[in-house]
Amino acid sequence: MEKIVSLCKRRGFIFPGSEIYGGLANSWDYGPLGVELKNNIKQEWWKRFVHQRTDVVGIDSALIMNPKVWEASGHLSNFSDPLVECPKDHQRFRADQIEITDNGFQLCPSCGEILGPEKQFNLMFKTFIGPSEEQANIAYFRPETAQGMFVDFKNVLETTRKRLPFGIAQIGKSFRNEITPGNFIFRTREFEQMEIEYFIAEKDWKAYFEHWLDEMKRWLKDLGIAEEKLHYDDIPEGERAHYSQRTVDIEYDFPFGKKELYGLAYRTDFDLKNHMEKSGEDLRYTDPESGEEFLPHVIEPTWGVDRSVLAALVEAYHEEEAPTAEKGETEARVVLKFPKWLAPVKVAILPLSKKENLSSFAKEIHRDLVQEFVCEYDETQSIGKRYRRQDEIGTPYCVTVDFESLEDKAVTVRDRDTMQQERIAIAELKAYLREKLS
Ligand code: ATP
Repeated sequence: MEKIVSLCKRRGFIFPGSEIYGGLANSWDYGPLGVELKNNIKQEWWKRFVHQRTDVVGIDSALIMNPKVWEASGHLSNFSDPLVECPKDHQRFRADQIEITDNGFQLCPSCGEILGPEKQFNLMFKTFIGPSEEQANIAYFRPETAQGMFVDFKNVLETTRKRLPFGIAQIGKSFRNEITPGNFIFRTREFEQMEIEYFIAEKDWKAYFEHWLDEMKRWLKDLGIAEEKLHYDDIPEGERAHYSQRTVDIEYDFPFGKKELYGLAYRTDFDLKNHMEKSGEDLRYTDPESGEEFLPHVIEPTWGVDRSVLAALVEAYHEEEAPTAEKGETEARVVLKFPKWLAPVKVAILPLSKKENLSSFAKEIHRDLVQEFVCEYDETQSIGKRYRRQDEIGTPYCVTVDFESLEDKAVTVRDRDTMQQERIAIAELKAYLREKLS
């Protein structure tokens, strides 16, 4: 993990948040490469699950909703973690993460003191709407994107005229006042989720649960996650969230242990039923054939964006011995072997020298390639160092422009994984890269 955190900072993937003020614990900012990586994940997800399907539509709902939403969803009364405090050093921990001793105590992991009694701590972030901080003005930052889909269910149904089964998808930030955030971007207090609420008739829930489990597996494969590092944990009754009748946690072997990456839940008609009751709006669906009116049930696959970024980084990170320019010698290289679609930069254009004629020739190639690919142009340092940098950020192809290029109108293309180099005519370059990157 240390190596990944340090690479992320050094190369501009992820920085500590508010760093010039000494940081803010467990807050992180995505830098120039991190935002590309994260956007690639979100765009691919949207393309696959919204644009390429006829049964899913997207929304983008408000982060702060009417507080009654959280009353109806059960978050005000149930969305809490058990909290224990050390009476000596006043550190706080999640009770379910601290071992119980043989004589029934829980000890402070820092000082060994017996921890105080367990209290329930609500994870929602509170704020006030408007200038006066009164009880009547309390509002909450959403702890999940899901409620947006339930609250907008009727509007979506009426405007799209979708028939069951159909889903509503959303990508956006969620906020949880976690007791023990940590492990880099794994657990933070603000994070992004990609969620689908898939509305079905109750009788079909098992089939659609399996369908979405398969879709999540397919996604993980394309994200480059090794199958043997994934675990599918069917959560027993009593341990599931208050709304769920079946939950499968998809866990991944992170460097700090086996932890949840994504989740899949059967939320029954819990949410629509409660919103219908509390809002007084009729949220039932009318079957167009039978005329029967009923509340749809829901399968909810949910993906954490930041945990996707972290798992993709962990999987992509490789250290290996690579041959140097001198025959027979090798040196260590760090390379992020991202699947090509995921790489933040697809092509680097590297002129061998900064001399004006070569530089302007290479810049012209760059101007042409950026029409189609995310590119970087770099003419600083030695070519070896520039290759290392591109390896470290996972760029699949480096295009080297040399003095011969001015004559033969061809460039050398280096492959990140094989390090093989190929001479390609500039006229063919776009088509060559298009094919390689597809
Ligand atoms: P955990 O058990 O790790 O707290 P959870 O079961 O509460 O997670 P869900 O409510 O199922 O999580 O949230 C759906 C997804 O959102 C998770 O699978 C995860 O990818 C992501 N997620 C949840 N909490 C956080 C967080 N604090 N930081 C980053 N991602 C998160």
